[in-house]
Amino acid sequence: MSKYKIFVTLVVCGILLGLLVSGFLRYRSSISRGIRVQLWINHPEQYPEWSISAKERCGNAPFILPTTGYVGYLWDDSFKIGHRHQGIDIFGGTKPGMVPVYSASDGYLTRQSDWKSSVIIRVPKDPLLPSNQIWLYYTHMADPDGISFIAADFAPGTSEKFVIAGELLGYQGNYSGDPQNPVGVHLHFSIVKDDGKGKFMNELKIQNTLDPSPYLGLNLNSHNGSPESPGCH
Ligand SMILES: [Zn+2]
Repeated sequence: MSKYKIFVTLVVCGILLGLLVSGFLRYRSSISRGIRVQLWINHPEQYPEWSISAKERCGNAPFILPTTGYVGYLWDDSFKIGHRHQGIDIFGGTKPGMVPVYSASDGYLTRQSDWKSSVIIRVPKDPLLPSNQIWLYYTHMADPDGISFIAADFAPGTSEKFVIAGELLGYQGNYSGDPQNPVGVHLHFSIVKDDGKGKFMNELKIQNTLDPSPYLGLNLNSHNGSPESPGCH
């Protein structure tokens, strides 16, 4: 083998090893958060200091906190190798249908006709980059069978209905799409990019979302050595 081939092989191996190690480290920190989510879900009364409070504004953040509970999973957490979480998961620590969810910002709410547990709110001017439009996505607001906990004002098919920051949108639920395997009761909240033509992009891809940290005034990025329980201090 020529020296050049050996060099290329070493570089490729180094890159692969680096990817493996960084993937493992990210996965490991997500696992440790998963353990804390279980502790919280089983005994929320034992960890009151882990909870954030709905409608609170952290410092001079542009958005208010959309619900109450433990921010168990962060933006870009990984639930399995290769997976990247596009939002944050706030676990209320109660049964489904009890913990209110509020609009984090003024905006225009849409609920597509087949959305059982989700709404999306268009914010015409990104407060951090006013030339851009962004979207705030809220989901898991239904029970395991898809019985919705979304407020009656926002029936399926609602389009562009104006809401103010702090307006009740619904309640945290555990809808997963599979009645036999509900998720833990929580709100999934994410900030979704606009496609530049007035439509929200596919929320399932992290590249189409924004780190919510500066919008909520909390450390919500899994890469930033985030504390185990992000809080508004
Ligand atoms: Zn989530």
